[in-house]
Amino acid sequence: MKKDPFNEIRESTKLIAVAEYYGLQPNRQRFVNCIHHSPDNHPSMQFLKNDKYYRCYSCGAWGDATALVAKLYDISAIAAAKRIVIDFNLNIDFSDDDYSIAVRYESEKVLNGLKVWSDRKYSEYEKNLTDFLEYLKTYEPTEEELESWGSASVAKINELSRQMNVLKGSSVRAKLELYRQLRGDGNDTRR
Ligand SMILES: [Zn+2]
Repeated sequence: MKKDPFNEIRESTKLIAVAEYYGLQPNRQRFVNCIHHSPDNHPSMQFLKNDKYYRCYSCGAWGDATALVAKLYDISAIAAAKRIVIDFNLNIDFSDDDYSIAVRYESEKVLNGLKVWSDRKYSEYEKNLTDFLEYLKTYEPTEEELESWGSASVAKINELSRQMNVLKGSSVRAKLELYRQLRGDGNDTRR
């Protein structure tokens, strides 16, 4: 089986060297201003110690050397990989099945992005719920208030637990649908 050129690039380069080659200047803690969201006034994107991946602690973006170069120059993953191979003089072969490998690379990236998003969203909901329960402990609603909260809040709580089940569940399709739903409603607080 043909080797995965994207994996070969990860194995044969140091991500931070790639970043510096293309003009980024990581600080001592290996952080730069995020290239995925702007403006990023405080450097929130870090090149991980494994020197293969980076991630942004603010927007959740994640990637490897190829993803970095693709984003920096706004080019496809294949074009970015070819550029790295030439610039770093790597002996990596791109040939007939570039396309299927690129598709797999892109879908892995989407799946990872979806996982990061789901985990963040779930923690956000969990925190909101905990805060809400804490609040209820200190606040004792009257009968009338309980009455008026009624079915609307029950529906909201049902919807919230449905979403949390999707976020923790294993169905990629359901997660993607939820992602689209939240983006569409404008309820998504993700930056
Ligand atoms: Zn970011």
